[in-house]
Amino acid sequence: MKKDFTPTLLDFGPVQIYLARHFGFCYGVENAIEIAFRTIDENPGKRIFLLSEMIHNPHVNKDLQDSGVKFLQDTSGKQIIPFSELNADDIVLIPAFGTTLEIEQKLNEAGIITEKYNTTCPFVEKVWNRSEAIAKKQYTIIIHGKPKHEETRATFSHASTNAPSVVVKDMQQTIELAKYITGEKPVAQFYIEFQNQFSPGFIVENDLQRIGVVNQTTMLASDTQAISDYLKDVMITHYKLDEQNVEERFADTRDTLCYATNDNQTAVTGMLSTDANLAIVVGGYNSSNTSHLVELCEEKLPTYFISSEEKIISDKDIIHYNFHTKQELLTPGFLPNNRPVKILLTSGASCPDALVENVIRKLISFFPGSKTAEEMTKQFGI
Ligand code: SF4
Repeated sequence: MKKDFTPTLLDFGPVQIYLARHFGFCYGVENAIEIAFRTIDENPGKRIFLLSEMIHNPHVNKDLQDSGVKFLQDTSGKQIIPFSELNADDIVLIPAFGTTLEIEQKLNEAGIITEKYNTTCPFVEKVWNRSEAIAKKQYTIIIHGKPKHEETRATFSHASTNAPSVVVKDMQQTIELAKYITGEKPVAQFYIEFQNQFSPGFIVENDLQRIGVVNQTTMLASDTQAISDYLKDVMITHYKLDEQNVEERFADTRDTLCYATNDNQTAVTGMLSTDANLAIVVGGYNSSNTSHLVELCEEKLPTYFISSEEKIISDKDIIHYNFHTKQELLTPGFLPNNRPVKILLTSGASCPDALVENVIRKLISFFPGSKTAEEMTKQFGI
């Protein structure tokens, strides 16, 4: 059945909230949280560690820490607790993004059985499998992702054991990479320009002749598609190929975004066809998929990226995150004077629905005469 991506209108009267058709928690995140809390329940008295943040949501991570779980690393991979302090009795949870083979080995050496408490999302594993499949056919793996993101580091680690691999973070880097395919740039420059983004032993002259593109599952679908199309065109032109024989040089990898990222992005596109005053996106500030939803909204209307309802200070002021400058800022007068005010609302894959509900409750509190959240719930027969 064709999926419906039109937003749901919550008409409170003086304020109308258009809720994206798909938003919030995905399968991978729910699964990871469930395993984490079950592990805590089933192992009283044991030391339980998380390799790093379970997901990119401060509220969920705080709940876990309040239950006694400790983080071994921060999101950039910096060690907080040395692996040498672990022993075979400890439990280490692998987060939904997965981890690198090197870290897995270190944990195993410390006596930790990593398979037992591994919450790696199956959609991330799908990317690893896809890269393994193209590696077997002697393609080099180009990973579209954020080089420092845990998932990209994990995918890079898995991919590079099978084939030469390079990470490109955006179209700009892809264009530069293409210049090494065509020989426009000197080979030596590659090792400086792509420092920390290529696998050991990468040989520019050999390893860019047959390529395939996979991605961090939470990248913007349209960006990955554009990067893949661009590289395909470069191969076609440089090697004088056509659509029929391009597979000699370019692997056919349909995009490897997960369903949740896809649905949340498409639902935002669907939501943006509504003429509204502003958009609010709820989620953790370091969440990749959430920042992409923000990016889509920003193109169309004033957009406020907030981590919870607490950031809506009053009917005048909102504190929100600018992910381009990585700073929080206060914007006065974020609600317009017209009535009804139309607000588009969505959240990222690592954001609990309760936070979205809290945001709705806070917003309607600024509009006297609004229907209550309870009345709205009744209207939807919930
Ligand atoms: S966003 Fe997708 S890949 Fe990431 S944890 Fe969720 S379902 Fe898995």
